Order: sequence, then C-alpha cells, then structure tokens
Amino acid sequence: MNFLKNVLMGVRDGNGKVCGLEMRRKRYNRRKRLARTLIVRGMAGVLLVGVVFAVVCVGLYARDVYWKEEETMTETGSGVAPSVAATEAEPEESEGEEPLEKITFPLKVMLDAGHGGNDSGTFYETTYEKDITLEVTKKMKALLEEQGVEVVLTRESDKYMGLKERTELSREEDPDVFVSIHCNSFEDDSSVAGIECYYWEDDEEGEAYAESLMDAAEEIEALRIRGTRVEDYYVIRFNDAPAVLVEMGYLSNSADRARLIDEGFQQTLAEKLVQGILEEAERQQEE
Ligand SMILES: [Zn+2]
Repeated sequence: MNFLKNVLMGVRDGNGKVCGLEMRRKRYNRRKRLARTLIVRGMAGVLLVGVVFAVVCVGLYARDVYWKEEETMTETGSGVAPSVAATEAEPEESEGEEPLEKITFPLKVMLDAGHGGNDSGTFYETTYEKDITLEVTKKMKALLEEQGVEVVLTRESDKYMGLKERTELSREEDPDVFVSIHCNSFEDDSSVAGIECYYWEDDEEGEAYAESLMDAAEEIEALRIRGTRVEDYYVIRFNDAPAVLVEMGYLSNSADRARLIDEGFQQTLAEKLVQGILEEAERQQEE
C-alpha cells in the first residue's frame, strides 16, 4: 500500500526530482479527483452495461415466450389434424372387402399342389409350375384354416408325389372336396391365357365346385375366365371325393406368367379360390 500511496503522492516527478510539499498536495488532490471521476464514470458505465444487458435479456426472454406460445399453438393444431385424419381413415378401412364369415359346420378340404420334386410341371425359363402351385396352395391353406376349415395337403414341400399316391391319400383322408392346383402352358400360341377349372363327368358336386371357383375368380378383373370343362385327369377321375383341378393361368403367356409369380396376385387368387370353395360348401350344406 505504501507503494500505491507514494505513486499517488508523487514522491518523485518524471525526472526523479523531489517536489515541494504544496505541489505534491495539489498533485495528490488532482489525482484523487481524477481517480474519483474515473471510479464514478466506471460505475456508471458498468451500470449502463448492466441495464442494457438486462433489457436485452428481457427482450430475448419475451421473444422466447412468444415463439414458444406460437409453437404450442402449432403443435396443438397439428396435434388435432392426425386424429381427424385417423377418424376419416377408419371408414375407408371398413369399406374394404368384408372378411369371409366363419363356417358353422365341419368342413375338410384337401389341397393338391400339382407336381413337385423331379416333376417341375410346365415351366418358362426358371419359372416352374411346381413352385407356383405350392405357394398358392399354402396361401389357400392358411386362409381356409382362418375360417375354421380342416385342411389336408398332398404335399407341403418340393417333393415328388405320384398321381396314384395323391388319390390314395384322398381316399384315406376322405375330404369334402379335393382341389388340385396347376398352371397351364400352350407353346403354339402365347396369346392363349386365363384360368379354367376341370371336373370329371360323373362328379356333380365337383362340377358345382368348379362353377363356384370360376364365379369367384371372375371377381379378379385382370383375369380371363375360360370356364369349366370335363377332363380326364387322373386326380379328379380316380378320386372318391368331389374333385376339381384348377389351371390358374398360362406360363406361356407373359401377362399370366407375370401375375402368377407375383405374391400379391397369388394371395388374391388364393382368396378367391377359397371363397369359391366356401360358398359351394355352404350351398351343399343347406341342401
Ligand atoms: Zn400341372
């Protein structure tokens, strides 16, 4: 502190000479006033900065509050929108196709995926009939089981199975209807397309199922319906159960082929074929 006092008192002037007492006191007073002024101005400055800072802070805070209110309003607004959209979407969902009613009587269906294993059936490049028939059959099985129908498959995997083996299995299982699933091909004319269903001539119930399957398939707009026909196919002719054989389309026709390898179409087709089976089963039950 002595050092500070000496500086303020000006013990020595710039040249290092010692000044008179009066001069030193004046100089001391001047410096004291100067110091006081500096302190006051400094404090005023600090105060001013503080006030400005406070004003800015209040301004920023006010702006934040304002924006938050706006955001809250926007959120509330957009929060309402989805619920409105959801209630609007609900009827759309119920406008979709009505699910099939569960059957109220016991029904056993045997599904026969054509070909398998070494026997790939008809094919186009790497598209094999045996794969498509198995896919559609599996989809039909799932749909039928949803309706409480007992389903038996002749084959569940890519394995070979003889025609006699299939009809013998049908005899053992004694289903209410036997549905064999196939794809067709006609190399001579690639414009030939469409779905058709075969039955054996003595089989009236089989014929009725065939008609019902084609009626249901008709609901698929893109599909050409070739109708029902009597045909001497082993699995329908030598079957004790009412039996039909569906040729879902022609692999030799590009449009049919593109649809048949499409999983969405396979599903739609499976749904329609199942619908046809259930509708006819219901009719026969009522008789
Ligand atoms: Zn076939």
